Amino acid sequence: RSTDGFWDTARRHLIRYGPAGFIPSIIERAEGCHVYDENGRAILDFTSGQMSSLLGHAHPAVVETVSRSIATLDHLFSGMLSRPVVDLAEALSDTLPAQLSKTMILSTGGESNEAAIKMAKLYTGKHEIVSFDQSYHGSTHAAGAATYSLSRAGYGPLAPGNLIITTPNSYRSVFRTADGSHDWQAELDFGFAMVDRQSVGSLAAFIAEPILGTGGLIPPPDGYFAALRKKCDERGMLLIIDEAQTGLCRTGDWYAFQHQGVVPDILTLSKTLGAGLPVSAVVTSDEIEAVCSERRFMFTTTHVSDPLAAAVGLTVVRTLVEGEYDAVARRMGDRLRRGLVELQERHDRIGDVRGRGLFQGVELVMDRGTKEPADDFGTAVTAACFERGLHLNIAQMPGVNSILRIAPPLTISEESLDTGLAILDEALTVARK
Ligand code: PMP
Repeated sequence: RSTDGFWDTARRHLIRYGPAGFIPSIIERAEGCHVYDENGRAILDFTSGQMSSLLGHAHPAVVETVSRSIATLDHLFSGMLSRPVVDLAEALSDTLPAQLSKTMILSTGGESNEAAIKMAKLYTGKHEIVSFDQSYHGSTHAAGAATYSLSRAGYGPLAPGNLIITTPNSYRSVFRTADGSHDWQAELDFGFAMVDRQSVGSLAAFIAEPILGTGGLIPPPDGYFAALRKKCDERGMLLIIDEAQTGLCRTGDWYAFQHQGVVPDILTLSKTLGAGLPVSAVVTSDEIEAVCSERRFMFTTTHVSDPLAAAVGLTVVRTLVEGEYDAVARRMGDRLRRGLVELQERHDRIGDVRGRGLFQGVELVMDRGTKEPADDFGTAVTAACFERGLHLNIAQMPGVNSILRIAPPLTISEESLDTGLAILDEALTVARK
């Protein structure tokens, strides 16, 4: 089918964004684990859209909810409540530790982190926010100021009082014990020694992804978050955990913080909560909510407590509960991981395979010994995958190396998972030539 000047019109009228430009294919339709271009070519979606389409595209329960809600209860004044909002807040509480009982429904991830940061400031009366040096919390201003996996150059001045510690990346960390293993406790101690020296005495919160996504799919070592929680408690800081990519069963647990055995003071959910639609949430304790409310917490966005968004979130949570998708993600995640480790045995450009459940990263290197990043090779691999009908994203941000992020919908079949792995296998060979 002719492209009818589509790309010329796009060039004339679209603002370009993001580091990589557009994929040269016109996508017409998305269903299940596939997107289809205008020629009817099926492309397997290993990124769940923007890591969001947790139940696949056009899941019947989501389609039904959107159709019903848009026709009967779409959008209301921010001070008006409807049942889907209260039901979703309750449903989320049921999946969470008891102290996380208060919820606010918003639209996007950046927005949920803006709200969380404002709450942390209001509650503590302090303003400094600490994060990891490969974090991603949003493109908005305060969340963006706590984001280091994107280029910050050209956007200053950012919100003041942002401090960083190094990301505990076991594959690349320079902090090593005598036997060569990752000395993450020393890395954390060093990070907080630097924080303490740079702080002006106003530490409000640490904001962290429990497994870093955009910054290179980096799972902090077991025990790390308990030690981080201790550092926060010692300083009277809140711990904000951002589960935009990891929340709601993807990693094999309902929430990735559960694997680390900690409970955040504030939890933010987004991408996966809307399963492809803009739905996000902030969840916190009675105590933090009460203090913020007393201090007149203000966050009245246009779409706060929207019934349509809440209805979608509720359908997503109920579908995950009923389908026991945490177990599904564990089972399918094991299959994915086995396949990736097997590829690593045959392809020496795979330096590291890491992640949990259906959230796996593959770090490509030019040489396993030197761990030299394989940027051009990574681009060639994703291009070869796309030609063969697999969409995979490679994280290549400032300071981030060539990491394939693999996070297919939890509804993916074993057959599609194996097809994707076979395409990646071939692409790794072809890109090498
Ligand atoms: N937090 C994390 C961990 C994310 O991955 C993202 C999106 N990449 C965001 C926040 C921002 O979400 P949104 O793009 O919906 O604002």
